[in-house]
Amino acid sequence: MIAKELQEEVYNCIKCGICMNACPVYKQLHVEGAAPRGKVQLIKKIQEGKFDISEGFKNLLYTCLLCETCTVNCPSGVKIDRLFKAMRAEVLKKYKLPLLKRIMSTVLSSDQLLPFCMFWGRTLGNPLMALLPKNGKIGAISFSKLPKFNGKPLMDQYPEIISPSGKAQGRVIYFPGCANNFLFENVGNSTIKVLQRLGVEVVFPKDLKCCSLPIFLSGARQMALSNIKSNLSAFSRYDNVDAIIVDCATCGAAFKEEYVHILGEMGEDTKEAQKVKNKVMDISQYLAKFDLKKYLQPLKGRVTYHDPCHLVRSQKIKDEPRALLKQIPGLDFAEMVGADVCCGGGGTFQLDHPDISVSITKNKIQSIRNTGADTVASGCPGCRLQINGNLGNEKIRVVHPIELLAEAMGKV
Ligand code: SF4
Ligand code: SF4
Repeated sequence: MIAKELQEEVYNCIKCGICMNACPVYKQLHVEGAAPRGKVQLIKKIQEGKFDISEGFKNLLYTCLLCETCTVNCPSGVKIDRLFKAMRAEVLKKYKLPLLKRIMSTVLSSDQLLPFCMFWGRTLGNPLMALLPKNGKIGAISFSKLPKFNGKPLMDQYPEIISPSGKAQGRVIYFPGCANNFLFENVGNSTIKVLQRLGVEVVFPKDLKCCSLPIFLSGARQMALSNIKSNLSAFSRYDNVDAIIVDCATCGAAFKEEYVHILGEMGEDTKEAQKVKNKVMDISQYLAKFDLKKYLQPLKGRVTYHDPCHLVRSQKIKDEPRALLKQIPGLDFAEMVGADVCCGGGGTFQLDHPDISVSITKNKIQSIRNTGADTVASGCPGCRLQINGNLGNEKIRVVHPIELLAEAMGKV
C-alpha cells in the first residue's frame, strides 16, 4: 500500500467539490469518477478494503493530467496529486504498464538504448518525418509540427567546463534534460550563452541521465530509481557551485519536488535529494539577480506567456519568467486569459486521451490568439509541443523565454 502519511490524506477530504470545478479533465467529461474528488473517494474505499484495484479504477486514475490544479485549490490541503502518483505505483503492482510507456520508460532509463534510439532518430527519423502524411497525428500532435532531432546531442557540443572569457562571476551546473539534449538544442545553447555573457562558469557533467519524471509519473518507480541515484551522484561531485540550473519545467519539478518524495516513499535515503532540491534553480530564477538591461537590444513584436504546470504549481514560479520577458526592450508583453491553466498536454496524457487533450488545448490556443501575440513563450518542452502542435497555420512561434533573451543579447 501507499506510504502511511499519504494514507491519512483521504480522511482530510470534506467532499466540498471545489477541486472538481477547477479540474480541466472534469470540465470536459463531467464524470465524478474522473474528477479529483471522485478519485480521492475511490482511493479511500480501496485503502479500507471495500473496493479492489480494478481495470476501471486504473483507467480513471490515468485520466488525469497530474496538473496539480486540484491540489492548489483544495481548501483542506489534501495532497491530491501525491496520492494519485503513489496510487499509480500501486496499480502497476497488479497491471502492466501499457506497451508504449514500457518502451519509453525502458529507453529513457537505459544508458545504451537512449543514445542508440536518438542516433537512429536523427539519422533516419529526420528524413522520414518529411514523408509522414501532413494530416496525420501522434496523439494530439500533428506530424507536421513534430520537432526535428538535434544534429548532435547538446551534451556532445560542449566541454565539461565552459568558462566565461573574463573572471568568473559565478559557477553553476547545467542540466539540459532529454528534450534539449535531443530536440530543442536552441534552448540549451541560449541558456549556456546567456550564462557565459554574464560571466558565469558552466559545469556540464557528461554522465547526466533523464530526470525520470515521465517514468515515475507513469507509476514505474523502480525503473526510475537508477537514473535518480545516478543524477544525484553526478550533482554531488560538484559541491562548489552556486546552483544547479534547469531550463525545463519538468526536470526542475523532478529535482525540486519529486525526488525527495519518491525516495522517501520508497524507503530510500533522501539526504542527497534534499541537498539537490535546495540547489536547483530554474534559469528564470537564477537570472533574477542580474542586471540584464545593459546587455539587451530591442526586439520587435508581441509576446504572451503560458505557465507550465510544472513551473507555476510544482515549483511556484510565476513572476520570474514574465520579468525576463518584460525587460526586453521593444517587446510588447500581453498577458493571456487563463495563462496558468494546463495546456492539455500532460506528458503522455495527450497520447492516451487525444480527444480530451485537444479539447483542453483549444481553449489555450484561443487565449493565445486573443492577445494578438506573434510569439508564445513557455519554459516547458511538453507545453511547447502541445501548443505548437495544435496551432493552425497562423504565424505564431512558440519559444522558451531564454531563447528570446539570447536573441535580445544578439545571440551573444
Ligand atoms: S477540494 Fe479537497 S476537500 Fe474538497 S472535494 Fe476536493 S479533495 Fe475533497
Ligand atoms: S491533477 Fe489536474 S487533471 Fe488530475 S484530477 Fe487534479 S485537476 Fe484534474
